[in-house]
Amino acid sequence: RIVYVNGEYLPEEEAKISIFDRGFLMADAVYEVASVLDGKLLDYAGHEARLARSLGELEIPMPASPEEILEIHRQLVTRNGVEEGAVYMQVTRGAADRDFAWTADMTPSLVLFTQAKAIVASPMAQRGSKVISLDDLRWHRRDIKTTQLLYASMAKMQAKAAGADDAWLVEDGKITEGTSNNAWIVTKDGVLVTRQLSNDLLAGITRASLMRYAAEAQISVEERAFTVEEAKGAAEAFVTSASAFVMPVVEIDGVKLGAGSPGPVATRLREIYVEESRRTAI
Ligand code: PMP
Repeated sequence: RIVYVNGEYLPEEEAKISIFDRGFLMADAVYEVASVLDGKLLDYAGHEARLARSLGELEIPMPASPEEILEIHRQLVTRNGVEEGAVYMQVTRGAADRDFAWTADMTPSLVLFTQAKAIVASPMAQRGSKVISLDDLRWHRRDIKTTQLLYASMAKMQAKAAGADDAWLVEDGKITEGTSNNAWIVTKDGVLVTRQLSNDLLAGITRASLMRYAAEAQISVEERAFTVEEAKGAAEAFVTSASAFVMPVVEIDGVKLGAGSPGPVATRLREIYVEESRRTAI
């Protein structure tokens, strides 16, 4: 696999980053994941805009121009022959002698690599995902897409240990989001509910696109927080992310939703998302 690191395209074994890089030492880094279908990038404008926002919040300079960054995505997709999968991009503040304080003159690092994988034909989308609820113990700037993913990883491991697939995180009695996705429920009246944006969760690009597609399909969306109890009593549930698209959730803390298999609304939204994102891919 060819990867990109700071201006160079290299075989993955040859790519190097300093041990003093603050991404490595302090998770002083942000990332984006854009999915690829038919060799094209999905929802790219959203990922590009969110990268700029995350960097701005942390005062990390842009490592390259938006045009250059798009070109690197395309080069890697082409060079690695990715038809379906993802492009991972990470920007770190760069390397400096270890110190909590940073200086404004640091040179950021830019790393990208591809992952080839099947996303549309997903076994989990067929059977549906099982989630458990867990306390949300992450920091309070979840709106910034940092590489500080340890609690999310621990929560995912706890879910797997409990025989589930993923965790929904709960703060003050309300679900914030999944470990790596935004959480949605479908009420008995067919209304989609997903938490309103704030510092408490990541503004998902897939979430934003799905909100537009739902509006076009005359499906109502309410942006508000909901409890685990409300979710357990919902008609359906699902999560959204660039790497899972729309993924039906069929069980919460061992309580089956509906028939315990992917519901009609989530299934239709998944189809709409795949169709629309293919159509708008670049
Ligand atoms: N929330 C969290 C915590 C995430 O890690 C992700 C995926 N990166 C999402 C939500 C979904 O965001 P997107 O649709 O942009 O992938």
